[in-house]
Amino acid sequence: MKNRREWYEENHPKAAKAQRIGLIVLLIFVLMIVIGGIVLLLHTLKSDNAKPVGNVEAKPYVIQESELSRPEESQASSESSEESLETTQTAGSSVEESSVTVSLEVSSEVQSQEPSSEQVVIPPLPERSYYLIVVDAGHGGKDVGANNDLLGYTVNEKDIDLAVALYLKSYLEEKSDVQVIMTRDTDRFIELSDRPAVANTEQANLFVSVHCNTYEKDQKVKGLECYYHENDKKRSGIMAETMITSLKNSGLDTKIRGTRVADYKVLREAYYPAVLFEMGFMTNPDELAKLASEDYQKQLAKAIADAVYAAVKK
Ligand SMILES: [Zn+2]
Repeated sequence: MKNRREWYEENHPKAAKAQRIGLIVLLIFVLMIVIGGIVLLLHTLKSDNAKPVGNVEAKPYVIQESELSRPEESQASSESSEESLETTQTAGSSVEESSVTVSLEVSSEVQSQEPSSEQVVIPPLPERSYYLIVVDAGHGGKDVGANNDLLGYTVNEKDIDLAVALYLKSYLEEKSDVQVIMTRDTDRFIELSDRPAVANTEQANLFVSVHCNTYEKDQKVKGLECYYHENDKKRSGIMAETMITSLKNSGLDTKIRGTRVADYKVLREAYYPAVLFEMGFMTNPDELAKLASEDYQKQLAKAIADAVYAAVKK
């Protein structure tokens, strides 16, 4: 017995053929839509993979020129201001977002564009078999820094800074994997901007500036502080904390006051980690006598050298 379909094909051969062709055309049409969909899906997945997060890390980070050219703060006034003494931070107190993170975010946003003339592209630190440290002796030449006659003769900060900086260089270079470049190794004047510029050009692992503090209102105030810029908490800030910890364990005969943030030009304009030591208070006669002595200058330099080495190794 014939089924209904066979009966239909026998009695309406033309219509049956047309139906079959129509069915095949419909099948091909559906198949094309399905294949098209799969191709589109694969293409979408592929273009998502084409922009991995890794690309952001590989790119040098970019900072705005405007960030580098804010008005300069008077360092002398902040060195001796009452406010700066009262806002002393304790170790590890406020490690937040750093400029590096912010800059990387900027970089990911602009990664498909050419840097504009207002942006400074900062290459990542090169792979090296040694740590490059830039040691910056504060002041110099016509800029004598802080000074007074408390010891019966004039003591200029620039001379203490240079003496400690030279000892710091030699102690650091006792480490086989450290090289040191100095911004000055004689009594000469250098513009503030030219100091971090050395570290930027040389791509130093760390820029270390050494200074002495003053506090006219209280001669008893003494001790050492390590400053970093608040835009670089994640690098400079963490290194400063490591250095302060090392100094606290060094047995150095002064109060280790801790880390502080300050908008010093030499820190603000540094592309790589940068710290500034206020090694002691020239307004404290006992500390001034020590700062002016070769013996204590060496002790300071040795303790700072060990602290710097601990920080760059970490
Ligand atoms: Zn100074």
